[in-house]
Amino acid sequence: MAIESCWTADLDDLCTIELECKSCGAIQGLPTTNWKGHIPNECPNCGGPWFQLNGVSEISLQRFMTNFELFLKDKGARGCSVRLRVEGCPQGRRPLE
Ligand SMILES: [Zn+2]
Repeated sequence: MAIESCWTADLDDLCTIELECKSCGAIQGLPTTNWKGHIPNECPNCGGPWFQLNGVSEISLQRFMTNFELFLKDKGARGCSVRLRVEGCPQGRRPLE
């Protein structure tokens, strides 16, 4: 019998979107609330390309960040909770049974 583990997180728990450079490993975090920045087109450490200017990824992430914050703010208008279910067990978390 395979044991599957997963955990759930409330959307409020999602506090940062992390961007990790494939070239140098630098990480930049984008806060999911009160985010007023822009999507970085290149790595702030090594200058390697991250997001093509006006490319699908840049535009999609920009919309995601904006819509995610709006979605969180509208929590009171919903009659259900919305959570994320993530497979695997991160360090420091116990799997749900
Ligand atoms: Zn880099």
